[in-house]
Amino acid sequence: MARKRSSGRERQRHGIADLEPYLDCPADATLGLDPLAVGWLHRREPYPTGPVGADFLVALLPFCYEEHLVCAVRVPRRCPLCNEIAPPVEREGRRTLPGAGEIRVLGKSDIYAAPDLIMHYITAHNYRPPHEFVQAVLLGPPAGAPEHRALVRSLNAA
Ligand SMILES: [Zn+2]
Repeated sequence: MARKRSSGRERQRHGIADLEPYLDCPADATLGLDPLAVGWLHRREPYPTGPVGADFLVALLPFCYEEHLVCAVRVPRRCPLCNEIAPPVEREGRRTLPGAGEIRVLGKSDIYAAPDLIMHYITAHNYRPPHEFVQAVLLGPPAGAPEHRALVRSLNAA
């Protein structure tokens, strides 16, 4: 598979296909990580759609809490599909800040890198993430588990 380097600026102009290598966060390379891209949608490019399980959404939400974001930006990005600022979601006193950064999910053999807007893509735009990502969210270490916290901490310190 051809590997293409792209800068953060380029990300605004094109999407990244699901499960392609994700190269836009320099901290991953600094730590020697090689995450796979999930949910880097673009308004001019088609993306997979379909239903997802409620249990998946429940498990995914905490990954998007502000405290678990990596590669954060100061000013939240608008959704590239509807050009709106996606509204924050609050649960158990914690909240998301959609567009403010990226999430990391640990699967059995891969780490997945997704924009925190993925929650909005699924609920507002019917995006369906790849099966192996869904499995990682459901069966891998939950958001806030020691492995996940350590990964987020290392990435934010890199
Ligand atoms: Zn949108």
